[in-house]
Amino acid sequence: MRVLVTGAAGFIGSHLCERFLREGFYVVGMDNFLTGSPDNIAHLFENRNFHFIHYNVVNYIYIEGPLDLVMHLACPASPVDYMNHPIHTMKVDSLGTLNTLGLAKLKKARYVLASSSEVYGSAQVHPQPEDYWGYVNPVGPRSVYDEAKRFSEALSMAYHREHGLDIRIARIFNTYGPRMRRDDGRVIPTFIEKALKGEPMPIYGDGSQTRSFCYVDDLVEGLFRLATAEGLDGEVVNLGNPQETTILELAKKVTEITGSHSSIEFLPSRPDDPPRRCPNIEKAKRLLQWQPVKDLEEGLRNTVRWFAGL
Ligand code: NAD
Ligand code: UDP
Repeated sequence: MRVLVTGAAGFIGSHLCERFLREGFYVVGMDNFLTGSPDNIAHLFENRNFHFIHYNVVNYIYIEGPLDLVMHLACPASPVDYMNHPIHTMKVDSLGTLNTLGLAKLKKARYVLASSSEVYGSAQVHPQPEDYWGYVNPVGPRSVYDEAKRFSEALSMAYHREHGLDIRIARIFNTYGPRMRRDDGRVIPTFIEKALKGEPMPIYGDGSQTRSFCYVDDLVEGLFRLATAEGLDGEVVNLGNPQETTILELAKKVTEITGSHSSIEFLPSRPDDPPRRCPNIEKAKRLLQWQPVKDLEEGLRNTVRWFAGL
């Protein structure tokens, strides 16, 4: 089996490539290193079943030979990154999605879109099930990501309905673990970096906003099952950990685990920052027999070890 992974040099993409290689797939990784790094995949280059193409998926994509599966992950994912690259973000989740869908159609390959819990925006329903349509500000600073993911979902469904493509949409909730960039601005790498350096941890707002954090190995297991199970054409599935925590609790946990004396610095809230986020994962449990197994405490310990270089 041959799989194309776009965003292969990113945080989730690099773990996913490893997983497919372990399962005996031939993996074509594609990335332009906008927010990812060659360091994340350097260890894969000696694998005969791994082939890397340095390429921007916004342009027409040519791949030699057959493909059975396309996994479209390319896209800046951290709010700081996508707000630094607003137009690129919209291009990669419109033109990039169009190109990868066109490729999947040409190769008669199955297609998995890495979408996001951000399609739910500042959700008015809690926890969020897949049939909730979301509450998104279409012109706010996060819209470049939220609306692009919503467009990617709509386009994928159009290819499913018009061309009969076997597409699956993963709505990924906050995921963390080794290989996140130290400076990507997401909350877990930021807190760990600050704690290890003994510097104040920045909290936007009063820290009462919630997120539900999934360890990367659990997420990759869910993505792998979604990509390889039969009979899931056109399905949209939440993948995330339903263990909800406030950002203030998270800061305290990171301080405890690192043994740091860092203080907390409260800063103004970020515009359109969703106040609560937690996945309803009943559908993933039913269709994929999947649920996360790593709790936040254990996942954070692993991640801290990696950030500390241990
Ligand atoms: P990441 O930034 O680490 O990885 C994204 C990768 O895509 C990077 O390697 C980047 O260089 C690459 N890329 C960006 N634009 C590209 C282009 N035009 N052509 C080729 N490559 C390009 O982010 P991540 O956390 O690994 O996220 C991966 C995917 O999962 C993204 O689609 C993201 O939206 C989705 N997702 C992630 C999370 C999360 O919590 N990590 C949550 C929801 C959705
Ligand atoms: N956050 C924070 N300090 C930081 C980074 C993030 O308080 O240094 C908060 C942010 O305001 C949000 C939550 O942590 O409420 C998660 O932010 P992140 O950027 O990780 O991802 P999001 O879930 O917003 O996409």
